[in-house]
Amino acid sequence: MKNAMLAVVATAFLALSSHPAFAEAHEDTAPGWSLAIHGGAGTLDPDAMTPERRAQYEAGLQEALDAGRAILASGGSAMDAVKAAIVPLEDNPLFNAGRGAVFTWDGVNELDASIMDGRDRSAGAVTGVTTIKNPILLADAVRTESPHVFLMGEGAEEFALEQGYEVTPPEWFATETRRQSLERMKAEEMSALDVDTKFGTVGAVALDQDGNMAAGTSTGGMTGKRWGRIGDAPVIGAGTYADNRSCAVSATGWGEYFIRVGVAQEICTRLRFTHMLAPQVVLEKVASEEKPVEVLVQEISQGIADAVMAEVRELGGDGGVIVVTPEGHALYSFNTSGMYRGRVTSAGVNEVAIFGGDVSASDTPDH
Ligand code: ASP
Repeated sequence: MKNAMLAVVATAFLALSSHPAFAEAHEDTAPGWSLAIHGGAGTLDPDAMTPERRAQYEAGLQEALDAGRAILASGGSAMDAVKAAIVPLEDNPLFNAGRGAVFTWDGVNELDASIMDGRDRSAGAVTGVTTIKNPILLADAVRTESPHVFLMGEGAEEFALEQGYEVTPPEWFATETRRQSLERMKAEEMSALDVDTKFGTVGAVALDQDGNMAAGTSTGGMTGKRWGRIGDAPVIGAGTYADNRSCAVSATGWGEYFIRVGVAQEICTRLRFTHMLAPQVVLEKVASEEKPVEVLVQEISQGIADAVMAEVRELGGDGGVIVVTPEGHALYSFNTSGMYRGRVTSAGVNEVAIFGGDVSASDTPDH
């Protein structure tokens, strides 16, 4: 009985897959490549930011986008583009990753990062490292040079030394602004959220010309973290996920909630199942709304990301995600007033944005 049901579903799926509307959604409109980045989400108030400060953030985001774009536009891999986009953000003291990371309760910059390749779902992650200049590169070395996925603290640093990484002194990571945040938090007995009001983690997701996707995330975590607290950023499935069958996601926000919802993988899984049912979904929507299929596919993907972020909100968490889809859509979804973000695609999109209403909901230039 069950097998008979499956056979019917499979036959229906095959029949619908050859429908022109589905073919259009999955072939004709696919841009060659796309990239989205974030530099953290949170309470961001345009009136509280000077034009100079805003320009610095935008320049930092644009530098990261340009680095990733150069790779994707010349036919390079999504993995290389993700790393190329994240390294300058880790080196930029404005963002909470690498240099400029927040301080733990004990006054240390403890760094987390993870990366995933959508081709084979290989993944690497590190947590609590204090001497690695670019943790995203070490996370990738865990992926490619070790039999493991996730290394912590001193062990991760021992592995780094064996791999030829240099020890970076703590002064490289420490910034006065972040130190003051820790001091204020302690003096005023504030929570990490009150003291930071924004997160600042960095991440990138990419689709390359071969149709491969990748995702990466890097952070200092949350100000004043203690007891070896680990957030979502280095947790595969929570802060980072990539699967060629569905999408690539990188998250930023209140990590505990992102772990509980399994945000990055949850979005990919819902998209994967939607792709399996896509012909039906697309045809039903085409029949009910007079919109181009390409726009409907984008709306469906955006709706899934928004629904998962709504779950984070329902539990009491906040933050945001960036997503790229196999069709080349580069999407954001956040439930905070702003998210440092940017996207660039072969379809001609090239933007950086900070506050909620800065850009249109669509990533398609004509819509
Ligand atoms: N998600 C990170 C964490 O919880 C913080 C951030 O996004 O800035 O560690």
